[in-house]
Amino acid sequence: MTLAYAFIGLGHLGANLAASLLRNGFAVTVFDRDPAAVESLVALGATAATSPAEAAARAGNAITCLPSPKVSEAVLTGPDGLLHGLPTGGTWIEMSTNGRDEILRLAALASAKGMETLECPVTGGVHLAAAGRITALVGGDAALYERHRPAIEAMCAKSFLMGPVGSAAVIKVITNMLAFIHLVAAGEALMLAKQGGLDLAQAYHAIVASSGNSFVHETESQLILNGSYDIGFTMDLALKDLGFALTMGRDFGAPLDLASRVNAIFEEGKRAYGGDAWSTQIVKLLEDEVGVELRAPGFPAKLEL
Ligand code: NAD
Repeated sequence: MTLAYAFIGLGHLGANLAASLLRNGFAVTVFDRDPAAVESLVALGATAATSPAEAAARAGNAITCLPSPKVSEAVLTGPDGLLHGLPTGGTWIEMSTNGRDEILRLAALASAKGMETLECPVTGGVHLAAAGRITALVGGDAALYERHRPAIEAMCAKSFLMGPVGSAAVIKVITNMLAFIHLVAAGEALMLAKQGGLDLAQAYHAIVASSGNSFVHETESQLILNGSYDIGFTMDLALKDLGFALTMGRDFGAPLDLASRVNAIFEEGKRAYGGDAWSTQIVKLLEDEVGVELRAPGFPAKLEL
């Protein structure tokens, strides 16, 4: 039997994930505090609800993709929250990025009301989510994962069951910590190339084919070279994830020198350009410091597959 889902949080990421469910024939009931976000999903075949509770009651299972644990908690436990709509035995699938302590605490609240939790943060960026090819990192019971696997596979090309709830938060935060370190490194590499008199497009391609390549260089360096910086992911979200990484480093006894430095750079980036600026704009700090723009022809304003 094909399960139905409520989908709450139709932002840069969530709208693409919900659209993938619709494209693959799932019945999706949507809610977002932004009516325009709801309308665009209704145009793709979703049903609109007036609250998370109503959406969850209609669908029987609920997915969230929200900006912070605080918002996830409000959507879960608020007066019109999911826990008031999900039937006993219903599943809450949390696709937002959380810290480990946060998802464990929220899953306990759901469990106390008879609902099961599958944590399912994703990684790869908005352009892969738009193509249904993002990667899912899953934490939770194996049988629950199997039950929702068709929906996860409708949204994601790969999924990894990492262990119990909390384990996906750890690997998700690790992968983002790496991505932000790689982003700052890619900016420094491009600046060195520019100041060293190289053709930046040719330098980009040489790095892609080199031992210094990274997923972040392959993708985000293109947006730097175009000048749009438009990765669909903000400074505030980057700082949230780096905060989780630093907390985990302290809790688990793992020194994180590079991540601490990169966190300080992102704090400076937020001061300079604001929390809503694209995270890729972190490289602009270097461009502004040196007084040189890292631009080359032939790169897209948004990532394409
Ligand atoms: P976003 O800010 O674009 O979207 C958040 C959505 O939640 C918005 O549509 C907003 O209106 C809605 N919302 C906020 N408060 C609400 C409430 N109380 N009730 C209902 N809706 C509410 O964020 P995003 O970039 O889509 O990221 C969502 C989550 O996914 C975050 O946890 C982020 O860390 C994670 N993530 C994002 C990306 C990415 O590339 N954007 C990649 C991986 C993970």
